[in-house]
Amino acid sequence: MQTPDWAGPLTEAYQQALAYLTSVPTRPVGSRATPTELRAALGGPLPEGAGDPRTVIAELAAAAQPGLVASSSGRFHGFVIGGATPAALAADWLTATWDQNAGLYLPAPAAAVVEEVAGGWVAQLLGLPPHVSVGFVTGGQMANFTGLAAARHDVLRRADWDVEKHGLIGAPPVRVLAGAERHDTIDRALRFLGLGTNAVSAVAVDEQGRMRPEALQDALHPTTGPTIVCAQAGNVNTGAVDPLADVYGLAHEADAWVHVDGAFGLWAAASPRLRPLLTGFELADSWATDAHKWLNVPYDSGIALCAHPDAHRAAMGMRAGYLPQDNGGERDAMDYNPELSRRARGFPIYAAIRALGRDGIADLVERCCALARRFAEGLAAHERIEILNDVVLNQVLVRFHAPDGDHDGLTNQIVRRTQQEGTCWMSGTTWHGQAAMRISVINWSTDEADIDTSVTAIIRTLEVESAGRTSVRG
Ligand SMILES: *Cc1c(COP(=O)(O)O)cnc(C)c1O
Repeated sequence: MQTPDWAGPLTEAYQQALAYLTSVPTRPVGSRATPTELRAALGGPLPEGAGDPRTVIAELAAAAQPGLVASSSGRFHGFVIGGATPAALAADWLTATWDQNAGLYLPAPAAAVVEEVAGGWVAQLLGLPPHVSVGFVTGGQMANFTGLAAARHDVLRRADWDVEKHGLIGAPPVRVLAGAERHDTIDRALRFLGLGTNAVSAVAVDEQGRMRPEALQDALHPTTGPTIVCAQAGNVNTGAVDPLADVYGLAHEADAWVHVDGAFGLWAAASPRLRPLLTGFELADSWATDAHKWLNVPYDSGIALCAHPDAHRAAMGMRAGYLPQDNGGERDAMDYNPELSRRARGFPIYAAIRALGRDGIADLVERCCALARRFAEGLAAHERIEILNDVVLNQVLVRFHAPDGDHDGLTNQIVRRTQQEGTCWMSGTTWHGQAAMRISVINWSTDEADIDTSVTAIIRTLEVESAGRTSVRG
């Protein structure tokens, strides 16, 4: 066989990557291309013959670039999307290069050991019990799925029902109590698990979206059979955290399993200063979090943790005849997550933790929260801007007051115009029936200048849009 030309396409990719990354601080944050332009640039007939790999990479980069959203920018504040630290990104390149199948120990020993080590480090960073089991999944969605699958197993086992063997037909009903402001991935996970969204009783929340303990108590009593309580650390709009110590106390009195969705908020536990917000979370039975959010690891990277490794394995494990039955007692990752073949997600997590260290991670989380407060203060100084939430973490909800009284219309318009203008990027949301701009500060590279530049851009857009409204509508 001819020696393949690795250097050509990889050099092209390296140069394209470096050019892109160095352009991020100055390029418009939002996409510049329309869907039509992207289809024209990227589409075409199915290639019949071979293409030169280096040319393929160069042309892919040229065609895709205008349609990229610079979500790794320090001024990307949309959804709750982290960036990627240099070490994590570089380790991710090697992950693809090494192409290990991390489902099993046998074909990927280094990946298996790295996941074991990284899983232990994540548990230590978050201050969870050392015996927790860890599954590396695609994201918060599958981390919630995995935690809730372990929960389903355990609450039904306690009712003498083997759900893995018998399924749910004929099983005792399972109740799920979750805050009214839970993330939609909880409901989706319950669909995948056959419990269905009707299994959920929504527990009333306060004005920040936190579960009300009295409402949980009412919902729990009188207890009727297998029960799962889903709590939240970090509401996607407000960043609010459920009163986890109260939730745990009430749930365990009722013999319920407690799952915590902490896709981004759980990382507050890595900061000694912010950890008190989460008090009691360490007593829960399972947790879901994302490395691709606050740890700033490239997509896709979620983490499921469970205080009951037996339940975790019972829900996820698999033994087929052709798979190695004896791997010397080493850990097969597939026993802890829903996939079999999969990417070795431990490598970038491992590199991220080594490059930042415990102190660096605490600092990253605290810095984002301080910058979110700076963002809120900068905007609130304007007479037409209202901050709708208590900025307890990294999320800020903003509402714009229109001269003509159409606050929803103006708020939505400012979100759109800000995205088009390109200095920064954030999305809109609805909070308590009102339109709001949702700002998330969760990128390792964001600094005070990014925040101040973003505040100035938003206020400039507000001035232009409100001036238009006054003159048009009087
Ligand atoms: C982002 C998020 C999720 C979903 O995580 P993905 O990584 O997008 O699958 C779930 N819950 C909360 C609270 C989130 O913020």
